[in-house]
Amino acid sequence: MNTMTNQDQTHTAKVCIQKATYDTIDLESLLQPLGGITSYVHKGEHVLLKLNLLNASTPEKAVVTDPQLVRKVAEAVLKAGATPIIGDSPSGPFSKRRLKKVYEKAGLLTLSSDLGVELNYDTSITNVQIPDGKQLTSTPICNFILNADKIIALPKIKTHSYMIMTLATKIMYGAVPGLTKAKYHAVYHRKSAFANMLLDVLTVAIPDLIIMDGIIGMQGEGPGAGTPVNINVLVAGDDPIALDLAVCKMLQIEPIGIPILKRAKIRRLWPPHITYPLLTPDNVTYKGFILPSTADYLLTGKKTPRQSPTITAKCISCGQCTEICPKHAITNTKDKPHIDYTKCIRCYCCQEICPEKAIMLEEHN
Ligand code: SF4
Ligand code: SF4
Repeated sequence: MNTMTNQDQTHTAKVCIQKATYDTIDLESLLQPLGGITSYVHKGEHVLLKLNLLNASTPEKAVVTDPQLVRKVAEAVLKAGATPIIGDSPSGPFSKRRLKKVYEKAGLLTLSSDLGVELNYDTSITNVQIPDGKQLTSTPICNFILNADKIIALPKIKTHSYMIMTLATKIMYGAVPGLTKAKYHAVYHRKSAFANMLLDVLTVAIPDLIIMDGIIGMQGEGPGAGTPVNINVLVAGDDPIALDLAVCKMLQIEPIGIPILKRAKIRRLWPPHITYPLLTPDNVTYKGFILPSTADYLLTGKKTPRQSPTITAKCISCGQCTEICPKHAITNTKDKPHIDYTKCIRCYCCQEICPEKAIMLEEHN
């Protein structure tokens, strides 16, 4: 399994973007700049295809990863001489009965019998320590995740009323068994805490490869009640945060407004550089993507909070606020950092990261 730590400043993440419909998926071309599927999957390995199977829902509703993409990925894994296993922990009780219903509705029983591919029914769990967690010190993780030699995650591009978007960085919340997920919603009822908890889970269950289903995504009141939208893209890579940043750019969403990406920025998990060896997000821009009604000012631009960050005399000129600012609105000066309020979007990352509590929020014209 991959690991996830603070990003090395020389690291460049690759994000491969391809225009596609379900009839024209060309995985070989999509994965070619990453070295092909055999860079990730080796002969004899058990490869988990971790889908987004939120609930028992038919594919045309765009709630679950489309089985046509799953089929193509399973075929590629078989061709590489490895054994694919399909799985997720949907919402609700993590039971064999519920899994069967979810697989059936998602069109996966047919796919499984056509290709002879196993669907996961192992509902056992293991408590896993998270030594560097911000919210969790340990969590139950499903054994089908822990037992896989490799994980290929297949998230869908969808909105999420609480976390605004559910993309590659959130897909591994399915590593946590169903009812524990519901419990964590109650415990971590602040968005920042919930997003930090999601990143904690990702540190112990990070996919090796991600192929994002953006052929038909979901907009509006996702993840279960939004409306399908034709975006007609596949997005692949092995850095989930880089993929999410690319999708935000494509959909013209301010990434710092997505709670999990904001936390990832503060935890210095954003890749310093992203390259696009195929199409760029600007080549496939989607205008008018509808966010959930819960999206705040950072995303809608409808209301700007009056409170602005102000640097006080406690500042020790450590430069951390300058480094973290997503809009490069802070510059270091001989004295203390200077904020350009014409660039500032009031995300308050600078205030959160300041080790001296030297940034106050004040009204500013
Ligand atoms: S993070 Fe705080 S202490 Fe460091 S330079 Fe910025 S305002 Fe000053
Ligand atoms: S609040 Fe403004 S200055 Fe501070 S990090 Fe956000 S954009 Fe930069």
